[in-house]
Amino acid sequence: MSVRTLTEPARNTPIYGEFDVVVVGGGPAGLMAAAAAGRAGRSVLLIERYGFLGGAGTAGGLSTFCGLHAKVHGEHRRVIHGIADELLERLEKLDALNKPHLTINDGILAQAFDISSYKIAADELLTSSGVRILFHAMAVGVVMADEDTIEAVLIESKSGRAAVRGRMFIDGSGDGDVAAWAGAPFEKSPPVDGMLYPSLMFRINGVDVEAAGPAPWKTVERLMNEAEAAGTHHFPRKKPIVRPQRNPLEWRANLTQLSTPDGGAIDGTDVDQLTRGELQGRAQALDAFEFIRDRTPGFRESYIVDIAPQIGIRETRRIVGRYQLSEDDVLDCADFPDAIGVNGWPIEAHVAGTVEFRWQRGENPRGFNQMPFRMIVPDRVRNLYVVGRCASMTHGGQSSARVTGPCFAMGEAAGTASDLALSLDTVSGGDIDVSALQQRLERNGAYLGGQV
Ligand SMILES: Cc1cc2nc3c(=O)[nH]c(=O)nc-3n(C[C@H](O)[C@H](O)[C@H](O)COP(=O)(O)OP(=O)(O)OC[C@H]3O[C@@H](n4cnc5c(N)ncnc54)[C@H](O)[C@@H]3O)c2cc1C
Repeated sequence: MSVRTLTEPARNTPIYGEFDVVVVGGGPAGLMAAAAAGRAGRSVLLIERYGFLGGAGTAGGLSTFCGLHAKVHGEHRRVIHGIADELLERLEKLDALNKPHLTINDGILAQAFDISSYKIAADELLTSSGVRILFHAMAVGVVMADEDTIEAVLIESKSGRAAVRGRMFIDGSGDGDVAAWAGAPFEKSPPVDGMLYPSLMFRINGVDVEAAGPAPWKTVERLMNEAEAAGTHHFPRKKPIVRPQRNPLEWRANLTQLSTPDGGAIDGTDVDQLTRGELQGRAQALDAFEFIRDRTPGFRESYIVDIAPQIGIRETRRIVGRYQLSEDDVLDCADFPDAIGVNGWPIEAHVAGTVEFRWQRGENPRGFNQMPFRMIVPDRVRNLYVVGRCASMTHGGQSSARVTGPCFAMGEAAGTASDLALSLDTVSGGDIDVSALQQRLERNGAYLGGQV
């Protein structure tokens, strides 16, 4: 972006409203945060720049929940519960959930969902929790009451610019937007040999299921690897994930990798790079689709039915809060006295040209780490929690705990904690009684990692 500036005239900004809790971002972390705060009886506004909830799950076209399960001493178990149970029940009722399937060399379970149904189920979850939703509004800044307290979030929409006052704020933007504007410390991995690469997801329809034969996703991967080895094709990313949806006529394809001219990862907080990523992603999607259609049995009559509304961003800002969840914590199945939930996903590092996986260490490990309350508490800003992929994690820790399951857990914890913080004489997110939070979460069905 250009660094030249012009001075805008000062103006009075209308106040859209005042709420106990203001949540920015309707991804898995933000939507669970809003639901939990609403259920605690607080007035809640969730601000989302698109016209639907789900975050990368819908806008990025993921269509699979990872991290709901862990492989606990060799046994696959659901470890994310609480409000997530209700969301999954709503999806079941819409007949929109696949049975969990084994993935990553059959090492762990993931669960595919229908994207349109997820949008509907998430709407219902929030409206039934008493949350007010504001779609099509982009948060663009904050107004501080003093050095460490946010007074309002500034938004822009087709209705113009406005301020939303709040007592507690939850940053579920994925990019740590609110935290950064409020002056909370954060880290960003370097784009080359650092930040995880984004991908643009797309879906294929019209697959002839019989002609495709059993386990055709293995055929797609094998054919791509053979073509790459023979030098007839070059794919920007090895380890494609191409799998059937609930109806096996339809497949999802996760196989693109988006980069800058010098080979670094596209930075999701840079609008020029986002633009480059969209153009590059669609070109890669078309190339890969044509290869699959022409080479894979059963795909001859298939077509691209959907390209995700936006490229999927895996990593940008990560705040540096009271504790940074690390790769060692994930691999050693760490425990924390202030646990607010668990993460059972392995390290999934989208590095240049491929994806690397690293599993929990030891023989027959417990298969999950606890997540500490401290990882959602930023330094410096006292009325803010930061949840989801921008929570306080090192690059390695985030390469694991950024997936949906742990984001659900962080969100529910932050929404519940907001209620406790608002009951203090001086609202302060980091000063709540953590054991009271843990009891509330467990009473509401969340699993914090005890007794396996
Ligand atoms: C290509 C790709 C594939 C992936 N595959 C999987 C998978 O299969 N399964 C899985 O579980 N995880 C997957 N992930 C990980 C996924 O990113 C996380 O699961 C998860 O979506 C992160 O949740 P979040 O709530 O932190 O952020 P996000 O999902 O990124 O949600 C952030 C939300 O905030 C909104 N927002 C952002 N900034 C603003 C603003 N300033 N104002 C208003 N609204 C704003 C966004 O529109 C979005 O809705 C994948 C990620 C990518 C990129």
